[in-house]
Formats: sequence, structure tokens, C-alpha cells
Amino acid sequence: MNYSIFSLVRQALKGHKDWPKVWRRILPEPKYDVVIIGGGGHGLATAYYLATKHNVGRVAVLEKSWLGGGNIGRNTTIVRSNYLLAGNEPFYEFSLKLWEGLTQELNYNVMFSQRGIINLFHSDAQRDAFVRRGNSMLLHGADAVLLDRDGVKRHAPMVDLDNARFPVMGGLMQPRGGTARHDAVAWGYARGADMAGVDIIQNCEVTGLRITNGTIQGVETNLGFIGAEKLGVAVAGNSSDISRMAQFDLPIESHVLQAFVSEGLKPFIDTVVTFGAGHFYISQSDKGGLVLGGDLDGYNSYARRGNLPTVEHVMECGVAMIPRLKRLRVLRSWGGIMDMSMDGSPIIDMTPVNGLYFNTGWCYGGFKATPASGWCFAHLIANDASHEVATGLRLDRFRTGRMIDESGHGAQPNLH
Ligand SMILES: Cc1cc2nc3c(=O)[nH]c(=O)nc-3n(C[C@H](O)[C@H](O)[C@H](O)COP(=O)(O)OP(=O)(O)OC[C@H]3O[C@@H](n4cnc5c(N)ncnc54)[C@H](O)[C@@H]3O)c2cc1C
Repeated sequence: MNYSIFSLVRQALKGHKDWPKVWRRILPEPKYDVVIIGGGGHGLATAYYLATKHNVGRVAVLEKSWLGGGNIGRNTTIVRSNYLLAGNEPFYEFSLKLWEGLTQELNYNVMFSQRGIINLFHSDAQRDAFVRRGNSMLLHGADAVLLDRDGVKRHAPMVDLDNARFPVMGGLMQPRGGTARHDAVAWGYARGADMAGVDIIQNCEVTGLRITNGTIQGVETNLGFIGAEKLGVAVAGNSSDISRMAQFDLPIESHVLQAFVSEGLKPFIDTVVTFGAGHFYISQSDKGGLVLGGDLDGYNSYARRGNLPTVEHVMECGVAMIPRLKRLRVLRSWGGIMDMSMDGSPIIDMTPVNGLYFNTGWCYGGFKATPASGWCFAHLIANDASHEVATGLRLDRFRTGRMIDESGHGAQPNLH
């Protein structure tokens, strides 16, 4: 069913009892042309673009739990393309352009809100770095505006510009950045993929890979063996588990990242702001809760919950930036497992196994990448060649030394 004002009125007249299921509940077929492991944002987007933009035959998505239960439903929903390096910026700007048409493309309201994002700076050196980043963004066709103190005050009056330790000197703003409704993105892609004939199978965990003479044959699952001509892996924090099944290692570590939501407030902040003197970001959801986030917990983990020192660190940064947050009550927090790469940038590539493709290394930033990641991963699987905006995101950069190290931290996944 196409969602429109007419379908809404029709269903309203029937008491909203006749809406069809958004995707089918089905059991897997014995074999598919392409199987995608992982029903998160990236896996679903990949299946959607494979089915709608490429002629690849039968496609299935296998998800071990429920759709949207992974990082796609756990993130702080910030969308931006404010990157510095040539390997990243064209990819993220391509993604932002896809976001701008996503609700129409999917006929599903992903609540994409271009409310702008401001990165505060607190020193001359930090301003120079942000000017460089802004210029790089402009050269790549993105938008960037350098704000002085008055500019920050105009957009984010709640920020304490005169903090004694970290006085704010200005900010780099990307007006086209913003937020989207995270689970609507998963549901929208799932609905689109299902309508295009993709089989989405929940509660189907991949427990092994069947590989013969270096070529993928299919996957072992709790629902039995499922054959696949090609296998795409988009399992975020579980990437190393699957690569181990194929007997190779990825340059990936799994880390926990927490998010926090406060009690609902009246409109308080209508943009996204990040603190430059620590790692802290804040926005306000449409329901009124403030959405807060910060650093990784700093150790390897598959536990989807965090620890108190990081909670304290995030709240300290928040209160340093906006002192009135000290009266805020945080209602909920949770963790997600991040696929942290050695240079902080993603990987979309083929692997040593014929027919096996990996999409991983999204670190903190994979939500905003969802449309481009799906688009480029589908392109790779269909054509056995990288999409032009993803040529830098190959695995061999770790062998040749052509890192895409945005933060300059080197091979320290926990610091990216
Ligand atoms: C707290 C937090 C805040 C974040 N904030 C932002 C942000 O503001 N902006 C931003 O751009 N990014 C952010 N991110 C990052 C972003 O959410 C992720 O990079 C992105 O969602 C990862 O891709 P995905 O959606 O496909 O992952 P997921 O949703 O995790 O999908 C992977 C799926 O694979 C499934 N799976 C795993 N193993 C198997 C198996 N063996 N068999 C079958 N299925 C399997 C999992 O169940 C899961 O559903 C944040 C992440 C977290 C945790």
C-alpha cells in the first residue's frame, strides 16, 4: 500500500483496522542469489537498493533478532557530512544527498530534520582546524558556515560561552546536517525491500559459513542451511564473529557506546551541538527528550550496556557546555556495539573468499552513512567493483598504508 493522505483517510474511515502488514513474515527458501546477514540499517538498505536498482534476482536478509534491535535503533540519530579527508567527504556528502530525498524515495516518513549541527571550538588552534575542515567540505560541494561567538549565541543561546575553563570562541556549522528517526529508517527500508520482493527473515542467526574451494556456498543458521551465490555481511559490532567463520581477521574491534535520553522538556534546543573541549553531543527529540552522547566506554565488549564512569564523563561535559543541564533528569540509557576500525573509517569491500563481501567499520558514525552504505554495498555486490565514492573504503588500505584517519589517532580504535 502506498502511504498518502488518501490511504490515511480511507483507513481512518475503517477505524484503522485494515492497515496491511508492513513486511511479510516468512521462512527462508533453500537458496538465494544474494543473502545479506544483518537486518540493521545497512543490511536493509543494501537489500533495498539491490532489489530496486540492480538486476540481481532473489535476495534475502537474515536477522538474528528483530529488525531495528541493533545499533540502527540505539543511536543518537545525528546526520551530517562534515568530514575533512578526501576518502570520506564525498561518501558522506553523497549520503546526505540521499537522506534529503529518502522519505519520498521510501514513501515512509523517516522524519529527517535538517536543523543544523554546530561543532564548538575553544582555542585558536581548534578554530584553524575547523576552518580547514569547513573549506574541505565546501570544496567537496557540501555546506559549511564558520560562526563567531554571536553566531553561536544566535543558534544555541543555552550554551555557556564564558565557561571559565573552556570559553567558546565560535563554531563550525553545517546547516544541512540534523537528525532523523532511527527506527523509521529501518522500517522504511524494510518495507521498501519487502515490496520489491526481498525476503526478510527475523530470528534467523547465522552460525557458520559454508565455503568450498575458496568460494561461498551459503550459510548455516538456526533455521538450517541457506544457499547463496553471493553473501553480504552487514552486522556492525559482530563483524569479527562472521569474519572468524570465514577464517580471516578484520582490522576491527568491538566497543560499547552509550546514549542517554532525558525527561521530556519544552522546546529547548533546535539544532545539534557538539562540545569541542570534550566529547559530548546533544539534540532534542520530537517528543521533547534531550538526546545525549559522548565517548566509547573504552574497552572491548559485546555487552549492550555501559558503565558509570562514562555516564559521569558525558554528564560533566554536558554541564560544562550548558550549565542548566545539571537540573535535568535522565530517564533512559543503553549501549550499542560499535565496529571500530583501525583508522576510524569504514570498509566496504570484497574479501579473500569469492562471493563474500563485507560492510563494516562504521565506528560512531554509521547511522548517517546508512543510505550511501546501502547504495555502495549493493553496487559492489552487483558489479564486483567499488562505487566511485567508496573507492577509498577498501580493505587493502591497511596493507598499503593509505589510511583515512580523520581524527589523527593512528591505529587506536578506542580513540577514533
Ligand atoms: C549509542 C550510539 C550512538 C550512536 N550515534 C550515532 C549518531 O548520532 N550518528 C551516526 O551516524 N551514527 C551513530 N551511531 C552509529 C550507528 O548507529 C551504527 O554505525 C550503525 O547503525 C551500524 O550499522 P547497522 O545499522 O547496520 O547496525 P545494526 O543495527 O547493529 O545491524 C547489524 C545487525 O546484524 C545482526 N546480526 C549480528 N550478527 C548476526 C548473525 N550472526 N546472524 C544474523 N544477524 C546478525 C544484529 O542483530 C543487528 O541487528 C551510534 C551508535 C550507538 C550505539
